Amino acid sequence: MTRKTYRGPLVDVSFDGEVCRHAAECVRGMPEVFDTSARPWINPEVASTPDLADRLREVVGRCPSGALAMVEHPES
Ligand code: SF4
Repeated sequence: MTRKTYRGPLVDVSFDGEVCRHAAECVRGMPEVFDTSARPWINPEVASTPDLADRLREVVGRCPSGALAMVEHPES
C-alpha cells in the first residue's frame, strides 16, 4: 500500500500509484492540478475556491481505478 496524501486549502487528494491504471482521466479533467511533469504531480492547492474544489471532487470521482480519493477537511 503506497497511498499518499496531497494537501490543499479546502480539500486533500490521496493517490495510490499501485492501483492507478493510467487512464489519464485526472490529467484530462483538471490539468492544473494533475500534471505528470511537475513534482509533486498532484497539486490540490490550485483548488482554492469552493467551485474549484467541486470540480476537483468531480474529476477525482471519475478515476476508474480508485487510485484517487478525496480527503475532505473536517468542518470547522
Ligand atoms: S484517473 Fe485515476 S487511474 Fe487514471 S491516471 Fe488518474 S489516478 Fe490513474
